Amino acid sequence: MGRIFVYAVIVWIAYFLVKKVGKALFAPSSPRDQARGPASDAELIRDPLCGAYFLKQKGVKGVVEGQVIHFCSEQCYDKYLKSRSHN
Ligand SMILES: [Zn+2]
Repeated sequence: MGRIFVYAVIVWIAYFLVKKVGKALFAPSSPRDQARGPASDAELIRDPLCGAYFLKQKGVKGVVEGQVIHFCSEQCYDKYLKSRSHN
């Protein structure tokens, strides 16, 4: 009688472990990994006019012909717009 009880406990523990390990193996990737995108405010981008590199969050965001372009300063944005209108 006692031996059957011990086997039952062992089987239950094995089942519990398999269930736990299986859950860890087949669990979907954490939401933190999915949220990590290529676009970030700390991204280093290049001014298309003067060629200077700057942090996206420090730059000036401009929309030219429906495209969002980032510039290092308002002056570069103005110059870029003027240079385009002359062409
Ligand atoms: Zn610039």
